[in-house]
Amino acid sequence: MILTLAQTLSTASPQGGGALRRGACPGLSAPMPTGDGLLARLLPTGTIPLDAFRALCAAAREHGNGIIEITARGSIQVRGLSAASAVRFAAAIARLHIAASDTIQVLSNPLAGLDPEEILDASEIAAALRRALAKTPLPRHLAPKVSVIVDGGGVPGLGHRVGDVRLRAGRSNDQVVFHIGVAGDQTTAMSLGVVALDHAIEAVLHLLDVIARSGHAARARDLVAADAGDAFRAAIADFLMSDALPAGVQKSSEPVGSYPLRDGTFACGFGLAFGHATAASLEELTGAAAAQGAAGLRTVPGRALLILGLAHHAAASMAAVAERLGFVVHADDARRSVFACAGTPICSSAHIAARTMAPRVAEIAASRLGTDFDIHISGCAKGCAHSKQAGLTIVGTANGCAMIANGRPGGVPFATVPTDELPEAIARFADASRREDSEENGQENNQENGQENGQENSRESSQETNHV
Ligand code: SF4
Repeated sequence: MILTLAQTLSTASPQGGGALRRGACPGLSAPMPTGDGLLARLLPTGTIPLDAFRALCAAAREHGNGIIEITARGSIQVRGLSAASAVRFAAAIARLHIAASDTIQVLSNPLAGLDPEEILDASEIAAALRRALAKTPLPRHLAPKVSVIVDGGGVPGLGHRVGDVRLRAGRSNDQVVFHIGVAGDQTTAMSLGVVALDHAIEAVLHLLDVIARSGHAARARDLVAADAGDAFRAAIADFLMSDALPAGVQKSSEPVGSYPLRDGTFACGFGLAFGHATAASLEELTGAAAAQGAAGLRTVPGRALLILGLAHHAAASMAAVAERLGFVVHADDARRSVFACAGTPICSSAHIAARTMAPRVAEIAASRLGTDFDIHISGCAKGCAHSKQAGLTIVGTANGCAMIANGRPGGVPFATVPTDELPEAIARFADASRREDSEENGQENNQENGQENGQENSRESSQETNHV
């Protein structure tokens, strides 16, 4: 299992993540049953040519129900397949040669290799890690949702993405290093320390080995809860640097917007409202991008995609097209702060029509929604759509909609209301939350003003005293 970065990079494949082979991606060869048929998933690992993406959309219409989702981790999900059409869909996608992951999820920055300000190309490290993993039995022993985040310091950042293991590039004493942590996002993860670039892959493999040894369902957060991270620290003790500088400022994770690229062109990021869109609207968006001379697209963690290689004037035209088609074109759009799973009738486990309710919920709470307050609507307690705590979580139950403040679907509800009373209950909660927020801000301002006034008063009295 011991491989250095130089060794793993030396076996690089031209497609950087391993091209999708027929039957190689479990999401395509073993689609998952849901309420609206089978669901197939693939996680692209690089730029998708526009004609390949349009062909994927056409295949989703032909073989599925024409709904395409881009998930919180940037996977593409195609819904409504049958047992027979799923095979034809997988064959059609295999012919497109879209580079996709066939191992555990290893996420890198969406603009890796194109961003002029990144510290390093995180997609190269991610590809090297996938190849190293393929040489070990680890993928067979890890829970399917175990993930690794590789943040190369570019935009959009990956600070908001939750990972079992996370690497974040930094600079220390004239060398590139990785800050390494486990079990969480940039804020909540447990920091383990700093490793040299050449030891990064090996350190991650050791950490994944610790998780794998704890059982097929184990996640990093379980181990941290059990021993405060001691097993992880012990596993990579030999690689940790003692004299590294602290990490720099984390870049924004928001993919919606316009980003300059190394070659002088721009990338334009659009959100899929509540993470889904029709194949037809995605085909139209992609067709417009091709007409504007775009070079391709990438799917992005955070329910979005980035159109690449646009001239500056073309970026504005693309935003107008995207807005007309119902995509999210402004980062502060309230729909970015509402997370909803498929719900009824799509998912057989659901008690409420979570996805159908989402636009109305976004409308009702629009003035409260934002980076500090989000809403998660979950058809049942499983909570597929959002892995993090939300300002308000609404869970479908046999008795109505359970409402949980600052928690997750499994949390204790403060109220359970019938579905037809939910809009009013959300409006009341959003109002109360807004009032509480402004009162807290007011108190903080008063305290700050008080402290400043106090300091000034004491400065003045000390000056007065000196004068005396
Ligand atoms: S959270 Fe429940 S209802 Fe929603 S998609 Fe997941 S399993 Fe289905």
